[in-house]
Amino acid sequence: MTSPLAPRAVVRRIPAYVPGARAAVDQRAHKLSSNENPFPPLPSVRDAVAEAAVQLNRYPDMFATELGEALAARHGVEPAAVVAGCGSVAVLGHVLQAFCDAGDEVVHAWRSFEAYPILVGLQGAVGVEVPLTADGRHDLGAMAAAVTERTRALLVCSPNNPTGPAVRHAELVELLAAVPERVLVVLDEAYVEFVRHDGAVDSAAVLAAHPNVVVLRTFSKAYGLAALRVGYAVARPAIASAIRTASTPFGVNHLAQVAALASLRAEDELMERVDAVVAERDRLLAGLRAQGWSVPDAQGNFVWLPAGPRTVDLAADAVKHGVLVRPFAGEGLRITVGDAEANARVLELAESWPRTA
Ligand SMILES: *Cc1c(COP(=O)(O)O)cnc(C)c1O
Repeated sequence: MTSPLAPRAVVRRIPAYVPGARAAVDQRAHKLSSNENPFPPLPSVRDAVAEAAVQLNRYPDMFATELGEALAARHGVEPAAVVAGCGSVAVLGHVLQAFCDAGDEVVHAWRSFEAYPILVGLQGAVGVEVPLTADGRHDLGAMAAAVTERTRALLVCSPNNPTGPAVRHAELVELLAAVPERVLVVLDEAYVEFVRHDGAVDSAAVLAAHPNVVVLRTFSKAYGLAALRVGYAVARPAIASAIRTASTPFGVNHLAQVAALASLRAEDELMERVDAVVAERDRLLAGLRAQGWSVPDAQGNFVWLPAGPRTVDLAADAVKHGVLVRPFAGEGLRITVGDAEANARVLELAESWPRTA
């Protein structure tokens, strides 16, 4: 406490980020604990990365210019509206650094992405956690009502990690109408490519209509590049410019830039894989519900098993059976959709467990 090297009090209070369990090197296990893509990289992407390795002695393009241009074209915005970073988690950190002073409030749902309290706390901002509804959805009405004159940002995680449901366009438009323009509304769409419900958010329309919106996307999930760390924000150029100012210099490494570009070129092939994951997700969800589990809607590449007080025990049982899942003690298990074999194991395991309604 009295050490002259004590970190800031907020740093001592912040809970550690818990990464998904990893298998020992020699262990054959289904790793369903980090919402990764079960498919290995496409040969075209791997080749592009291998070729790019000859330039490892050079710094990357600091502004990821070519990638930014490709993303801008894809989103129908100008390149100045796109900021890439070392994963969309880093980009969110930069958003908060650019916009939040100490003591400013950041409204977000809870339970939601575990990085939010960490990033908000590190910034010295105050997280205002709004409980999810009983079916794992954002309570957007309560979130709008939680906005005060101290609120600087409101985070919407859609689909919500770890519970699964996504917000709909109409309810997001309603939220944006209720929230003053001085509040930044950050739409974290890490899993948007897996969304299949009616009335899905049209983020381009939302961005065009509202100057206070930031959309976050990532190459870690649907595009299968989790190891390379690349994500980005799309926002009005003035906002994007502020995020860029806060960004780590050279934050997107050269291999990541090249792999992301190669993935955009192979988008059709990658989206077929996303369709396959979605089909497996729907099979898994239906199977679990048929077993009597009360599983919320799953719009990402994962399902939420509300196991309550048994959560930790069930996660340990899963490990014993070669399946790594992500427990949230006392609440439930988040299980990533894997390949057909892994999902079959999950269904077998879940069948053997007592249901906790
Ligand atoms: C996985 C995830 C991200 C993306 O993380 P990266 O840093 O881009 O790998 C962002 N938001 C949520 C909710 C996630 O689950």
